Amino acid sequence: MKNNKAVVPIISSKDTIKYKTQNQIFNLNRNNLLLTQTPQAFRFKELYKITKNQKNKVTDEATLFINNDFKIKFIPGEKANNKITYIDDIKTPKTFYGIGFDIHKLVENKKLYLGGVKIPFHSGLEGHSDGDVILHAIIDSILGAIRKKDIGTYFPNTKQFKNIRSPKMLKPIMINLNKSNFFINNLDINLICQKPRVSKYRDKIIKSVSKLTGINENQINLKGKTVEKLGLIGKEKAIACETIISITKYD
Ligand code: ZN
Repeated sequence: MKNNKAVVPIISSKDTIKYKTQNQIFNLNRNNLLLTQTPQAFRFKELYKITKNQKNKVTDEATLFINNDFKIKFIPGEKANNKITYIDDIKTPKTFYGIGFDIHKLVENKKLYLGGVKIPFHSGLEGHSDGDVILHAIIDSILGAIRKKDIGTYFPNTKQFKNIRSPKMLKPIMINLNKSNFFINNLDINLICQKPRVSKYRDKIIKSVSKLTGINENQINLKGKTVEKLGLIGKEKAIACETIISITKYD
């Protein structure tokens, strides 16, 4: 402002803008379009003078300066500088976090499912369902983030759900989630087991979880945690899993 009467930030337009007259619509060349931002700075004396004589409504002070052939110094604006005009401009999506945990006993003569993937192993996870600790922990973390109680509320140990496959449990939860305008940003999984080696099945499990949840593979992380052969997990008698999920709600 030391050397100028008016300083206005501008950015290029990412939208192609049309110009409407009474009964015709014209295309404007996007390369020539400049979006003026706020705040805009003016010398008070000039601004006061031209505003005082102004009869028509204008949408910014820069318009007045241009209409009066006053020189404006344009400087680069910032795309992140969002202008607040309407109530929608200050509505920001809300993000919620949910935590999930599950553990099942390993027993012989049962198939092992982790994240919906069948994994060759000496034992499988015991449970009312297929005992998929990863999918169960994911379900609980989703329910936690949207504050809808826990997995047992929707899938109690009743005859109806005996031997249910876990992808079947996840499906209605995902359908409900997507209906309510929730969007999953990030899913982090800790699989806690002595064996099998997580690194061997990581890609397969992530692919499967991605398919079952609709989350992009690059938004899912799977970490393997052995327990130094300690306790029941260390002796390959159980497998546990914990997950944290980040979910954004758009109104
Ligand atoms: Zn479970």
